[in-house]
Amino acid sequence: MHWAINRAFEVLEKYDLWDTYVGLRQLRMICDNQDVYYTTFPFRGRIRERYVRTSDDIKVLTVDRRALGDTAMHKHLIAHGLGHHFLHQGNHCHLHTLYLDKQEIEAEQFAAVLLVPPGVLRSEDSWTPKKIALRCRVPTNVAARRFRIMERVGM
Ligand SMILES: [Zn+2]
Repeated sequence: MHWAINRAFEVLEKYDLWDTYVGLRQLRMICDNQDVYYTTFPFRGRIRERYVRTSDDIKVLTVDRRALGDTAMHKHLIAHGLGHHFLHQGNHCHLHTLYLDKQEIEAEQFAAVLLVPPGVLRSEDSWTPKKIALRCRVPTNVAARRFRIMERVGM
């Protein structure tokens, strides 16, 4: 499952974000550059995000409007959708607190690395998941995943 992590490293390099705190502006820039149309929708229930790629290669990433007031969640959902864009074929729907299948876990790994680049982690060495969450403005579960990845791959 390392390949999702490596793919995120490649994307960070491609967009010169290796040492950058990745925010909404950078995520939107990646969407634009990849011809991924970004939009929002008032989803209901547990749906938080949806990534669709049509057979004629129109790509749409739709984020739940409930995320608009929560920067950490908003960033996470775009980064997760970009994970499917860069890693997978077909359409994907993201449900709140459900990461059961392999592709969902891969998209989560991709998102964690994309939102917390290695260069940012290198800037100091006493990281904790909580500190990553606060400093990089990501949800705590994303920060915890990124912390585990850092321990496993060394960056
Ligand atoms: Zn997903």
